[in-house]
Amino acid sequence: MGCCHLLEDGEASVMIDTGMVGEPFFIRRLVRRLGLKSNSIKAILLTHGHLDHAGNLAWLKRWTGAMILAHPEEQLHVNGTYPYQGINRWCGRLEAAGRLLFRYRPATIDEFIHDGQELPFWGGLRVIHLPGHTKGHCGFYSAKHDLLFSGDLFASYFFNVHRPPAILNSVPELFPISVEKVRRLNPRWLVPSHYDFLDGELHRKRFAQLYGMGRQSSPR
Ligand SMILES: [Zn+2]
Ligand SMILES: [Zn+2]
Repeated sequence: MGCCHLLEDGEASVMIDTGMVGEPFFIRRLVRRLGLKSNSIKAILLTHGHLDHAGNLAWLKRWTGAMILAHPEEQLHVNGTYPYQGINRWCGRLEAAGRLLFRYRPATIDEFIHDGQELPFWGGLRVIHLPGHTKGHCGFYSAKHDLLFSGDLFASYFFNVHRPPAILNSVPELFPISVEKVRRLNPRWLVPSHYDFLDGELHRKRFAQLYGMGRQSSPR
């Protein structure tokens, strides 16, 4: 349904999001293949608290002992108690069904993050608050790689590059501000949470086609 990403950095590796169903098998296998141990993952960064991102949060925290970092506005989503309004209530209904089906367990965010905060992982990751999809939705930007993990700001499939469907967005009026923030940041690579291929250049190009973006002057 969506992708979670393991940023490998030896004994200080981090996970961005945790997936929903089936991921524990793949995460365990990947960690083993990379020659890491469960406690090599030191932090779990959550782009936002929707079920397809926080589905294995409690399990991953238990398995790794890692701390969870997310925007404070996301705790209610993780708890499953966010007061969805209007058409967005459908998102809550879908999540409620999913939580039952997958025996979801909530978890507590250990450290609240905020816009512009520099996190000491993967050579440095900057928190980019990108509200719209949810109030506390955040991306994570690596200046070292000039790469932005953009969460659910947009989804990128070859047949369909789009903003998340209206029923899934809690504060859609804030999308333009977040899009503008990414356009100004103008990263070389963009990696959303829902995509067909892991190709940061391709997703950047698609985002630029959807919203427009400055040219990257030269490869860095
Ligand atoms: Zn979402
Ligand atoms: Zn999602």
